Amino acid sequence: MSVNKNKKIDILKRDNYICQYCGKNLIFEELEKIHLDHFISKNLGGLSEKENLKTSCEKCNCSKNYKDIEEWRLELINKINERIEFLNYYGIDIEKITNYKFYFENYGKL
Ligand SMILES: [Zn+2]
Repeated sequence: MSVNKNKKIDILKRDNYICQYCGKNLIFEELEKIHLDHFISKNLGGLSEKENLKTSCEKCNCSKNYKDIEEWRLELINKINERIEFLNYYGIDIEKITNYKFYFENYGKL
């Protein structure tokens, strides 16, 4: 990660130490365990600038990896629907989802 500590702390403060994808509060996590995700990943030309960096928990950052946000969203929807299908099989009546909104889309500042 080519972001220095002060820049990282600025971004974490901007994002209220909340994972901008799942909404997990990271305030009590060790600094090294809080990730900064390149919203537009580096392999797609995304830069290590504040505007392109989002506070992220380790789990979300590793799951998103180099995917673009729509690709990742679709992957998550499919995973959730697989579980719903499993529950449906056992008679639990839950409808499949057609959309998923990330934390920053509901509450984020960017
Ligand atoms: Zn997260």
